[in-house]
Amino acid sequence: MRILLISDIHANMEALEACLDAAPSFDRVVNLGDIVGYGASPNEVTDRARALGTVFVRGNHDKAATELMDIHDFNPIAAAAAIWTREQLTKENYDWLRELPQGPVRVDDIPSAQFVHGSPADEDEYVVSLGNVIELLAEAAVPLTFFGHTHVQGGFLLGDKSADAFRPEYRTLGQAETVDLHLGTNTRYFINPGSVGQPRDGDWRAAFALYDTEARKVIFHRTPYDLKAAQDRIFDAQLPARLATRLAAGR
Ligand code: ZN
Repeated sequence: MRILLISDIHANMEALEACLDAAPSFDRVVNLGDIVGYGASPNEVTDRARALGTVFVRGNHDKAATELMDIHDFNPIAAAAAIWTREQLTKENYDWLRELPQGPVRVDDIPSAQFVHGSPADEDEYVVSLGNVIELLAEAAVPLTFFGHTHVQGGFLLGDKSADAFRPEYRTLGQAETVDLHLGTNTRYFINPGSVGQPRDGDWRAAFALYDTEARKVIFHRTPYDLKAAQDRIFDAQLPARLATRLAAGR
């Protein structure tokens, strides 16, 4: 099975469309949450995500936009975006986002993996270092945990004799590229496909990944997208300007 992994779209329709255009053929889609928040296309992105199906995990911004979480926990820019998003969402999309399941999510026909937004222990936890994750790796019930939330593509592994962090190494700054990760035996992984709509790993390109269960590999993708169009929508919506400018830096 070939599973398209997307996360942290953040209402960036231009980035989502670019990822879907760049994606090779796939059988299923797993969406790791933060469908909305920050970007200026919450309904368009939610409609598209709903149409894609099939497996979803809720993110903290999905919760904030649908009043499942107190936005006082957010910084002022994130809170302003959450309030704006809440006002924009159609009732149907609001209700749908509010019903998204809390991770970890397991799927019968993908027994090798679990899906979370933050971590299996806490849906809002940022998994940013090997120190954060080593116990979670050791305790994981399945070899593969796919997570989002940090907006950093890559992950962590724990083998018989090794533990490490990894990031895909790309050759360009502006072209569509892929990097393969071959999955080892007796090794557990935490893998982040990266953020579709607001990367924070210093690379402005939209990020996603494909998990090929038979080939036992995860293919990381980066793809350029119409950055200016996404930024202009944010300016036109009078969202905080920083939400547009940061997209160019991938921070
Ligand atoms: Zn996010």
